[in-house]
Amino acid sequence: MKMANEDYELIVGLEVHAELSTKTKIFCSCPTEFGAEPNTHICPICTAMPGALPVLNEKVVEYAVKAGLATNCTISQDSKNDRKNYFYPDLPKSYQISQFDKPLCEHGYIEIEDDFGNPKKIRILRIHIEEDAGKLNHNEFTGESLVDLNRSGVPLIEIVSEPDLRSSGEADRYMKKLKSILQYIDVSDCKMQEGSLRADVNVSVHKKDEPFGTRTEMKNMNSFKSIQRAIEYERERQIYELEHGNKIYQESLRWDDVDGRTYQMRNKEDAQDYRYFPEPDLVAIKLSEEYIEKMKQELPELPEKRKEKYMKELGLSEKDANSLTSSKAFSDIFEKAGEICKNYKSVCNWLNSDIARILNEKELEAEQIPFSAEDLAELVSLIDSGVISSSIGKKVLDELFENPRSPKKIVEEKGWIQISDENAIKEVITKILEANPQSIADYKAGKDRALGFLVGQAMKETKGKANPKMLNEMFLEELKK
Ligand code: ADP
Ligand code: ZN
Ligand code: MG
Repeated sequence: MKMANEDYELIVGLEVHAELSTKTKIFCSCPTEFGAEPNTHICPICTAMPGALPVLNEKVVEYAVKAGLATNCTISQDSKNDRKNYFYPDLPKSYQISQFDKPLCEHGYIEIEDDFGNPKKIRILRIHIEEDAGKLNHNEFTGESLVDLNRSGVPLIEIVSEPDLRSSGEADRYMKKLKSILQYIDVSDCKMQEGSLRADVNVSVHKKDEPFGTRTEMKNMNSFKSIQRAIEYERERQIYELEHGNKIYQESLRWDDVDGRTYQMRNKEDAQDYRYFPEPDLVAIKLSEEYIEKMKQELPELPEKRKEKYMKELGLSEKDANSLTSSKAFSDIFEKAGEICKNYKSVCNWLNSDIARILNEKELEAEQIPFSAEDLAELVSLIDSGVISSSIGKKVLDELFENPRSPKKIVEEKGWIQISDENAIKEVITKILEANPQSIADYKAGKDRALGFLVGQAMKETKGKANPKMLNEMFLEELKK
């Protein structure tokens, strides 16, 4: 199996759907807000009442054009909407308004790192606008399915990549980069757990001197981890089938995260099955050069630009700047907290080490950090001004994740204020020295480690609250006597 494995090359292409963060839906004025009571954000248009006519939301075009510009696409000045026909209970019109042969944006690229750390361009075939469908809620106990049309007509962009990805790692970095770009330009909140960002993952394998193999497609994936696992699984499965003389069929698969495998859903439709035709209820989308130019001017600062700023103006390393800008939420907290406490280096360290570790452990995204930039700035200032030690700082951070409130309050409530009073520290030192005559002898015999032990004992005695710098200095003074 291993030998055969290496003969094959993996090919991945992603179709990413992002819900746009416009206030209202794409063809009506219902709100797009997530999490409302079922069927409260609906009207005759998004529930397909006879005679109701769609009107295109201008903001949707604006957001899609910005996404195109931020991913180096050519913006089409002449675009239109089409009907994609299929029946499903969550699609009341029995067709989805999408774009077929004239998408808004085409032929762009995103730069990522390949598996060896070299820059690599992943081409984007197209970005088009379309409407989202409703949602079926299945009740396991009664066996009923109820339809909620709040999501019906929420605007989406679909970003289709060329099949340029060659590993699950590349696919992961592509998804993360795309997510960060969309967040930076503020067109989607990209909350994967709410389904605002989801991907159809296309996978095939082939031998390097042969044409591309048949692809299978895993629909609607909304976790970075599952996408990587699904690609790995599908690669192995396809190679296994081919090595056993079987064919790969073009089909839609469902990835099961618990079983760790894919299941067949249905044979894949081709474009002709959808009977696409121009949407007769909407006019063509014509964009002037001035309009596109204006969108370019309005584009906010992209991650590359921030990265450069962090390195040049704040003297951060490339590695630090990279991880800070990997998500907009992270980078925003960094800038805001740094601005308040004026210690950018320390804020950077907290974010890239302890906070990143906790997010990883809790499987949270940076946008889900429960405390504010102000809180983080206060934590850094408490340490800088010697009110708490950095080891107490870590405990404060845990509290911030558990039950966010002002770090000052946490420290007061818990009685964690650092002991920096000379007399109080002297008292502790005397007590520890009296209890450990052997360590004094060891130190005098040249064993420097004994000092570390004594400081450790004093820290234990004060539950980590003694000022470590003062402890060190004052122990030394005593030992030299
Ligand atoms: P459909 O909507 O029918 O899936 P699209 O053209 O919208 O078709 O998307 C096709 C996706 O499949 C693209 O992201 C493309 O990169 C990817 N793809 C095409 N051929 C292959 C292949 N041989 N292996 C893996 N991915 C592929
Ligand atoms: Zn509506
Ligand atoms: Mg597809």
